[in-house]
This record gives sequence, C-alpha cells and structure tokens, in this order.
Amino acid sequence: MTPGNIFLNRAADDYRLAEPRGRKVFLRSPGIYSILYPDYAVIIDTLNGTTDVVQENGSGRIDPESLEARLERDHVPRSHIIEAKNGAKSLNTLDDRLKDQEAAGTDADLRTYLRSQGYRDYPVPKYAMASNRHKGAVAFTDGQKIIGVNTDYEAMVSRVAKDGGMDKKTAYEYIVSHEKTHMAQPKRILQNKFHAELDVELKMADHFYQKAQKVKEPYRSEQYRKAADYALSRASQYLSQVGMKAAPSVDYRRAA
Ligand SMILES: [Zn+2]
Repeated sequence: MTPGNIFLNRAADDYRLAEPRGRKVFLRSPGIYSILYPDYAVIIDTLNGTTDVVQENGSGRIDPESLEARLERDHVPRSHIIEAKNGAKSLNTLDDRLKDQEAAGTDADLRTYLRSQGYRDYPVPKYAMASNRHKGAVAFTDGQKIIGVNTDYEAMVSRVAKDGGMDKKTAYEYIVSHEKTHMAQPKRILQNKFHAELDVELKMADHFYQKAQKVKEPYRSEQYRKAADYALSRASQYLSQVGMKAAPSVDYRRAA
C-alpha cells in the first residue's frame, strides 16, 4: 500500500472509466476505492456503503472463493466481501445467460426484430457490472454497454418470473433482451428515462408476441405470450405514472 498505488475515484460515475486491469490499489479512509485485478475490479464506496464488481464481459468467470480470499488479504470489511461475492455470482450468471441466448439463437432473433424497427444494431455487451446501487433494477445499461445487474440477480429473476407467470428461462430472456434493446435505442429516446422505458416495453411486447406466433411448440409459445403480456403491463405502469392508462386488453398493434 504505497501512496503511488492509490486510485481514488472522486465521483461515483468515475467507476465506469475504471479499466478492470492493472494493479490492485486500496486506501483505508472514507471515500470510493477501486481494487483493480487483472480481469475485474471491485469498487467500494464507504460513504454509501455500496460494493460493485466490474468485469469485462467475455474475459472469463470470477471465482467467488478466490475473490473472497483476495479481499480478505486486503483487509476489506466482511460486509463488503459478502456483497462482492454476490456481485461476482451475478456476473457469472449474466454471462451464462448472454451465452445461452446466443446459443439458442434468441440474440439473432432480437437483432432481426430491432433492425425491422429501424434501430441500430447493438454491440456485443462489453462490460458487465454487478451493483447494489440500483436496488430496484434487475439490470441497466448506459446505451453502449450492459453496465449493471442487481447483486441479488437470481432473486430478481424469480420475482419477474413470478410476476409475469413465466418460467425462469423466459424471465432471463426478457430481462437481457430489455437491456439489449436499450443499447439499440436512438439517443433521442434513450436520453429521456420515461420514453426509454416505455419504448423498450412496447418493443418487448411486440417482439415477444411475434415470437409467440412463430414458435411451434405450444409451451414455448405460451411462455413468450406471457413475456409479452408482462412487458405490456409494465408499459401500462409507466403510462399510469403520468396519468394515462393503457386499456388492459387492447390489441395495440391493430390500434397503432
Ligand atoms: Zn429499462
């Protein structure tokens, strides 16, 4: 811990700029600290009591046990170590889901759909970060990268599955497709949070209704229809926030 090795982020947003490579650094006084390892970074905000784990997607899995050992060696408080471990597990899970989607062809499906809507192609998700900064969010993106997943990712997936009456596999596809769609949105939509969310949910409803019609197997078709219904109900929630209501059973494609 020589002073020359200290890397202190002055603003919370700076963590996005932290490259997950280089040598580890740590400072033991209030503030935001980054511990940079070769393939990931652990960001600890002692003021807000939050811990993030940042990883360059595709650079490999994080071993939660060795992460724990390394953080113990750095005298990181126990509560932060537990959060970092949960974050690492979330990143591994998200990475699995991204690969699953590619393998199952659902990624190509979504790209085709978004292209048909005139949206730009989204890049292969570059960075992933597990975070507890946005407790209500399952995952979030800055429009370029998927930058966050909730540290309690599995619990959030279960909640989406339960709320939407769909299986977990479909809930994963809905969640990751939602974030990818943000990545494809034009900047003029993305810059307004309300428009961005409403637009994504309507796109998700359309996309999953189309998938429900296309797929032959009745069970999968039903699952996709439920994902579409879920997206439409979220769109309706956004509208009700500004005093508008979407009719619950409207065929919005015919209405449009
Ligand atoms: Zn969103």
